Parts: sequence; C-alpha cells; structure tokens
Amino acid sequence: MKYIGAHVSAAGGVEKTPERANGIGANAFALFTKNQRQWKSAPLTDESIAAFAKQVQNLGFETDKIIPHDSYLINLGHPEREGLQKSRDAFLDELQRCELLGIELLNFHPGSHLGKISESECLKIIADSINEALARTSRVKAVIENTAGQGTNVGYRFEHLAEIIAQVEQKKRVGVCIDTAHAFAAGYDIRTETAFKETFYEFGSAVGFEYLLAMHLNDSKKELGTRVDRHERLGEGHIGIVPFEQMMNDSRFDNIPLILETPDPDRWDEEIALLRSLQK
Ligand SMILES: [Zn+2]
Ligand SMILES: [Zn+2]
Repeated sequence: MKYIGAHVSAAGGVEKTPERANGIGANAFALFTKNQRQWKSAPLTDESIAAFAKQVQNLGFETDKIIPHDSYLINLGHPEREGLQKSRDAFLDELQRCELLGIELLNFHPGSHLGKISESECLKIIADSINEALARTSRVKAVIENTAGQGTNVGYRFEHLAEIIAQVEQKKRVGVCIDTAHAFAAGYDIRTETAFKETFYEFGSAVGFEYLLAMHLNDSKKELGTRVDRHERLGEGHIGIVPFEQMMNDSRFDNIPLILETPDPDRWDEEIALLRSLQK
C-alpha cells in the first residue's frame, strides 16, 4: 500500500497536524514538532500530546507513517565542540518529542563540515552523534536524508549515507529518507524509466532498500547536478512526472511515508490525487 502525504503546518500546535493532513487526502504526513528556526522551544504540553494522539487515532494514521523533520539549525557533523554539543542537545530533544508523541521516525539532514574537516571525518562525527542520541532514547528511529550537496553539506552521495549507517551501532534504529529533488540536484538522474531504475539500483547496492524508511517527493527547479536545493511542484520542474509514476507502481516504495515538500500547500490535495491516479 502507498502512504502519501505532505509536510503540513504545525501552526497552532502539533495537535492540528493530523486534521490538516486528513484535509488534503493524505494517509502519511510530516511536521515540525517545534519551531524549526529556533534552538529552544517550549516543551510539548500534556494536553497537546494527548490531543495529537487522539487525532492520529481518530483519523486512522499509523505512527510509522508520520515523520517529523528536525530543526534546520542542527548540524550533527559540526567540526567544533561547542556547535556540536548544541546540535546534539537539540537533536536529543527532537527525538524525545517524537517519543512523547508516539511517533517512530525522525528525519534530519546529516550535517556540514563547514570546510574545516574532511567529508569522511564529518560522517564519522554524524554517526557518533546518532549513536549517542539513540543510546539515550528507546524507540524512535533516526532517518538520515540525502542532500543536494549545497555548500559544505555531506550526504549527497548514497555512499555517504552508507558510511554513516556502517558506523551506527543500533542498525535497527537507523534508516534513510531519499528526497528526489536532492538526489537529482546531486547528480542522480531519474528522469526516464531507465535512469530511475539505474539510480535506484545504485541506491540498493550502496545503501539497501531495507534502510529506506521514507521518501520526499519533490520536483526540482534546478538542473541535474547543480547541487542547488529548490523544490518544484511535481511534473513542473526539471525532473518531470516519470519517476513518480515509476514509484507509484514499484512495491519497494510500499508501506513507507511518501512526503511532498512542494512549494504550493494549497495544491497538495491535487498532487496527492495525481500520485494516486498514477497507480496502475
Ligand atoms: Zn526533503
Ligand atoms: Zn530540499
């Protein structure tokens, strides 16, 4: 079964998100559990947690089809001690929020070397950060997102994701989320059936589908290999609709959240309906 949704707004509280997702015809969704541009946010209240759980249950969402995204400020591969500690503290808080909400996944961008250490050193620090956070929580899985490779971000090669996973101790609590726009901007062509098959063959060999816990479905405003991260509505960017049609008819993408992060929230309902119409 396909679980399709979008990254919905948490304005007014996390308890508003299930209804927003339901309103666009989603059976999966993403959210921020705190302000994504601030280091500190007030703790979730008991009322908010209870209301969220009730909505999730009433609307029939499965807790492994809800995938919060962490704060953009966090850099788990930070080359300096102070910056790293701040990021690790904030990441732990994000994981704990997920556990309080009964959510099983947390999606995050791996990190940036800031031009101060090598990519490999950065990947090692990220793995250490994940190990530390998983040791201090009990259930939630750390879901590493591939990046477009903008600036000094690591994670733009499937091999980077594999290198992190190889150094994570609790293999059952780590996985990846592949963002189609990021992959394309990073140089992975998926525009044709052949290109799609080749790219995901490469993913299967480098990482393995057993680690694929989510996808972000975005078209790209930027060309192949530009390493610039700009999302576009499905079918209206440089990627086109072909890979999304492929995915809708490929069981390797069953039973994981497939999340839109496209630019026009008012039309997410149409994009979800479009994706469903592509299923043969
Ligand atoms: Zn994404
Ligand atoms: Zn992006």
